[in-house]
Amino acid sequence: MAETLRQRWDLLRARVDDACTAAGRSPHEVSVLPVSKTFAPELIRDAVELGLHRFGENKVQEIKDKAGPLADCGIDWVMIGHLQTNKAGVVARLAAEVQSLDRSRLAVALDRHLRAENRVIDVLVQVKTSDEPSKYGLDPAQLLPFLDELAAYPTLNVRGLMTLAINTDDPATIRGCFRRLRQLRDTAATHGHDLPRLSMGMSGDFALAIAEGATEVRIGTALFGARPYPDSYYWPERG
Ligand SMILES: *Cc1c(COP(=O)(O)O)cnc(C)c1O
Repeated sequence: MAETLRQRWDLLRARVDDACTAAGRSPHEVSVLPVSKTFAPELIRDAVELGLHRFGENKVQEIKDKAGPLADCGIDWVMIGHLQTNKAGVVARLAAEVQSLDRSRLAVALDRHLRAENRVIDVLVQVKTSDEPSKYGLDPAQLLPFLDELAAYPTLNVRGLMTLAINTDDPATIRGCFRRLRQLRDTAATHGHDLPRLSMGMSGDFALAIAEGATEVRIGTALFGARPYPDSYYWPERG
């Protein structure tokens, strides 16, 4: 198993490197966030042995379930899924980073719990870059006021933006979502918000994201294999 995982990791990293080269970028500019949702602690432990130490999870309950058995691994858990405000306490205690910050109430709740834990975490603001009806993520028109507001929370270290592309087979449309996120980042920079990180791209579309400036791609299937649950379990709005 560990052997297979190593081969998959090497192949994935080579594909990411190739996408960087094709885009005229250095492979050092793009990191891979392994997404371990649905996979058991044993497999994550194998990944730790490959030198990986950050893992993306989509549900708070899974971080809770896995943090204990893997406590000796020194893992940084990254919350990438929709986060209910009433679960902010668990995340403030267990997560190293939240990439799905998309509303004021959540920022308030995270800040309150992080103060209690005496912790500061990195956050990315999740922005909605498509017109799909019920997709989570901040309305792009709200980004600048939201960034201004976040400056008031010293426990939230705002490092960049995150998005999920529209669910379609059309590469040009997908790429348009990624381009939009980069442009929002560039606009924010002209308003004094330095957002170096762009988390965008998954197993099926990471090359497009890299071409549009991703600094981090979130990869589940291409590393760990097919998941036992359909994506609708994680993204009910896509069902
Ligand atoms: C599951 C998930 C991913 C990874 O998806 P793959 O297609 O398996 O690579 C990336 N981002 C988020 C938010 C996810 O929930």
